[in-house]
Amino acid sequence: MVQKIKKRRYVIGNWKMNPQFPAEAKRIVDEVKKISKKLVRTSVVLLPPAAFLGQCLGTRGDTIYDVGVQNIFYEESGSYTGEISADMVKNLGCTYVLAGHSERRKMGETDVVVAKKLASALRAGLTTVVCVGENERDSQGAYLEPLREQIQKSLEGIVRKDLKNLIIAYEPVWAIGAKEAMTSALIYEMTIFIKKVLSDLFEQEDAVKVPILYGGSVNFRNAAEIISQGQVDGLLVGRESVNPPGFVELLKVVDEIQ
Ligand code: PEP
Repeated sequence: MVQKIKKRRYVIGNWKMNPQFPAEAKRIVDEVKKISKKLVRTSVVLLPPAAFLGQCLGTRGDTIYDVGVQNIFYEESGSYTGEISADMVKNLGCTYVLAGHSERRKMGETDVVVAKKLASALRAGLTTVVCVGENERDSQGAYLEPLREQIQKSLEGIVRKDLKNLIIAYEPVWAIGAKEAMTSALIYEMTIFIKKVLSDLFEQEDAVKVPILYGGSVNFRNAAEIISQGQVDGLLVGRESVNPPGFVELLKVVDEIQ
């Protein structure tokens, strides 16, 4: 009898503003669909641009991967031209949303806005991936306090029952879109730091259950080491998630880790 292993790792693909054509989106989805069926330890989540939600949700069949959006607006409905709400994406069949990605923070998304988006997404029942990370590092650890503050403010208003739908993605901004990822030894240190920050905010037994992911220049070559030595619960993947051969290989290697 095949034993069903509880999925316990996340690989979340943030497509950013890619690809350019629906047919390309479909090609990525078809590859993900094939490989997802074979995964036993890994939950795959696709975050396409809203324009390609149809390609990602439409052919999904029985749920083998989840779909979400890269952004929502925090109001429920009304005169907010160009925005989409948490309920809208939930009603389409999405189950995940990203909040506070550094590329959005650069466009002016503050911690206060991130906290409002998080509250709205949780209210709608969406699992929310809150991105945090320092812009730069120094040898004295001066980046730690601002990071603590960023986490506290981004999670403002969150209560114990919300934690089951919360994921933290640690993404050092300097490692996003870079040549190399952060070293797994440093990632390990940062996951401990983030767990400590969460334990100061919530009961420790609840805080330690919040999955911590790493994001920043992950590819199929470094993914396994980051998971096993960085001790993270998964990965938030940008560029490699729109490169089907690399993403498929990444999913395979992550799933093989015992
Ligand atoms: C990201 O955009 O969240 C990201 C991690 O990008 P990349 O993997 O391309 O560095």
